[in-house]
Amino acid sequence: MADLIDSFNRKIEYLRISITDRCNLRCRYCMPEQGIELIPHTGILTFEEIIRVVRVFAKLGISKVRLTGGEPLVRTGVVDLIRRLGRIEGIHDLSLTTNGILLEPFAGPLFAAGLKRVNISLDSLRPERFHHIARRDAFHRVWGGIEKSLQVGFHPVKLNVVAIRGVNEDEILDFARLTMERPVHVRFIEYMPSGEHQAWKPERVLTIGQIRDEIERLGPLSSENSEGHTGPATTYRWEGAPGRIGFISPVSRHFCDHCNRLRLTSDGKLRTCLFSDDEIDLRTYLRNGCSDRKLAELLELALMKKPEGHSINTHYFKKCQRNMSSIGG
Ligand code: SAM
Repeated sequence: MADLIDSFNRKIEYLRISITDRCNLRCRYCMPEQGIELIPHTGILTFEEIIRVVRVFAKLGISKVRLTGGEPLVRTGVVDLIRRLGRIEGIHDLSLTTNGILLEPFAGPLFAAGLKRVNISLDSLRPERFHHIARRDAFHRVWGGIEKSLQVGFHPVKLNVVAIRGVNEDEILDFARLTMERPVHVRFIEYMPSGEHQAWKPERVLTIGQIRDEIERLGPLSSENSEGHTGPATTYRWEGAPGRIGFISPVSRHFCDHCNRLRLTSDGKLRTCLFSDDEIDLRTYLRNGCSDRKLAELLELALMKKPEGHSINTHYFKKCQRNMSSIGG
């Protein structure tokens, strides 16, 4: 099979699929408390449609799939979807991003269905602060989900922390210390100008450089990245620690040169970049009975349209029209 190469010579192999725009949290930086315009259920891709897209794309070179949302675990039947996606020839890496609230009951069934890796979003280790950020009192449920994920054998279990100045900067060391105690990968992510449009301000971004300096006050980190590493995170660990520390810097040092991904929104739009609203409407083609060949052409079109990079940090940067819960962060 030939590789999928875009117009900037990047190999595209990763599809992030948002399976719902519904979420059981209302994180202040991501979604408004009320007044969210939800996509009608009939507008959301069915499992059959998702599976068809993945089957066709896998034949062409997509080998990694991540399910996200909204909150993917609120969609009925998600375990069955995982099982069916895992059986598609050519899909070698299947993972899930979740806020962890429903993970305690779901971890076992998801693992049994073939899921190997989970990323859990967690911005505070303090229950009251978690409640404030997420507008829901759910810290202990998420923590239970993390413990359960480790127990059932997910590897790695990654905890994604969006670091925001004035919100959780005083917990950076607590999060980093977790990697000395538990075999988790704690990944710090810079706060991006998407989601709740009013909330983001440049001065609230804690850069990865600042976060790393803070962590290294406790001891030097050694790099874990292998040669030729291309993922968005650079990974480190402290000598003897069971866990890892990762840094993802979409704002201060973007990794667009190595971007290998496309996104499929829950209403079936193929997006070439988190920050580009130039979408290809697969749903309309799917529902008008298009051929697999047409889907392949639409994938080719996405490769042609994928921009060289996002323009955060430039004066012409335009926030995207959708928030993360409908694109799939
Ligand atoms: N509900 C799932 C979860 O919580 O992981 C998946 C969807 S959520 C939109 C995916 C990730 O996007 C979460 O880790 C969230 O913290 C992150 N996110 C949302 N808005 C963000 C922003 N403005 N900057 C950085 N990360 C953001």
